[in-house]
Amino acid sequence: MRELREKCAVVGVFGVKNAAKYAYLGLYAMQHRGQEATGISVSNGERIATIKKHGLVSMAYDDRMLERAQGSIAIGHNRYSTAGEHTMMDAQPIFARYALGEMAIAHNGNFPTYMKIRKKLIDKGAIFSSSMDTENLIHLVAQSNKTSLRLRILDALGQVEGAYSLLFLSQKELFAARDPHGFRPLSIAKVDGGYMVASETCAFDLAEAEFVRDIEPGEMVVFQEGREPESIHFAKSIPKQCIFEHIYFARPDSFLFGESVYEVRKELGRLLWEEDPIKADMVIPVPDSSIPHAIGYSQASGLPFELGIIRNHYVGRTFIEPTQRIRDLKVKRKLSPIRSLIDGKRLVIVDDSIVRGTTSKKIVSLLKRYGAKEVHMRIASPAIGFPCYYGIDTPHQNELISHSKSTEEIRDYLAADSLCFLSVAALKKAVHSHGDYCLSCFDGRYFHKR
Ligand code: AMP
Repeated sequence: MRELREKCAVVGVFGVKNAAKYAYLGLYAMQHRGQEATGISVSNGERIATIKKHGLVSMAYDDRMLERAQGSIAIGHNRYSTAGEHTMMDAQPIFARYALGEMAIAHNGNFPTYMKIRKKLIDKGAIFSSSMDTENLIHLVAQSNKTSLRLRILDALGQVEGAYSLLFLSQKELFAARDPHGFRPLSIAKVDGGYMVASETCAFDLAEAEFVRDIEPGEMVVFQEGREPESIHFAKSIPKQCIFEHIYFARPDSFLFGESVYEVRKELGRLLWEEDPIKADMVIPVPDSSIPHAIGYSQASGLPFELGIIRNHYVGRTFIEPTQRIRDLKVKRKLSPIRSLIDGKRLVIVDDSIVRGTTSKKIVSLLKRYGAKEVHMRIASPAIGFPCYYGIDTPHQNELISHSKSTEEIRDYLAADSLCFLSVAALKKAVHSHGDYCLSCFDGRYFHKR
């Protein structure tokens, strides 16, 4: 069975006319969290209808489609998966009919031990139509003997382990739950007399919704007509929020786990300078994700900030290409240095992370070929030595360059003049509630039974 590593976006809308349109806006703003497939389920109080499409949100839906999707409750999902077949079966929301009616589920996260549960369900006669870990939940809810959907969801959540920000839609209700560690984000906002729930607050900005609060780890919020949202704390909260959301994954205009992503990134850049200052002529980010980090570095160091590497926005993702050869080629097509700017110069290149080392190696060699005198790589996160089981797409451990090589060996492999990773201590310092973050990709400390 192929590996499932998903980092996705979820959005929920409750109590507004034409909820699907709001879900669409939310998904549009959160396109960066998944580009492979997108889907919206909408309930008109009687029936749930679901649209699912491959590709980008802007291409998947049109006005007529959204107009026809009538109903005041909706959930939506953008999917990002890595390897394997990209079938529609693996797109979300997942819809099902069961003893109490209809439901649809959208999930951001990962259940690392889902195969154990799936085997038990199959032994009991369950049939699966996708390879998604999320499908387990449908069966756990359907097979529960509790008398209401809310109790069945709680029953199901008590049997799974891992990372989830989950939305359940029934004909009349919306349920939004975050796992007890709160690995993945999930926030609530008010909009046009109703509510919106989303992975990132940038979704609220586009829909002109007003941020209310984050859903807490171990909390489920129930939205029902004619009542205030009801909060249920179903498990003890032991926060282990994903620090990588701040480093790379979230959009810089989002407010995540109580802080501005942009400000955290600038702080990472500032600390990177503090930890290992170096003489150079300019600071250049690896676009686009490292721009805020490089601004922080530039402001702290006083070195001029330059956009010395230009990104071609029409090249697809380089990160998940199946072979190293294609990844190498794509990095070159995607990133192009400005020759006249860098010729003969000493450069500090700021990137947010090194995973396999593909991007950094290509960049150093391009910059040297274009005449750079010195290239100093500065990485605004610690060395990633361990895979993520909680929804961030990282390859197998043996593909992680920092798993098998020391910093000096990586510098040598990259052919850089110097290389520095941010320390774990500095990373913790950059976020306020530092005890509450998961650092497993850096320290290998996991939070599920293995
Ligand atoms: P690599 O080239 O494999 O070392 O990957 C590092 C580059 O990919 C950096 O420029 C990051 O901005 C970006 N990156 C890091 N993590 C991820 C991820 N989970 N998905 C996509 N890109 C990533």
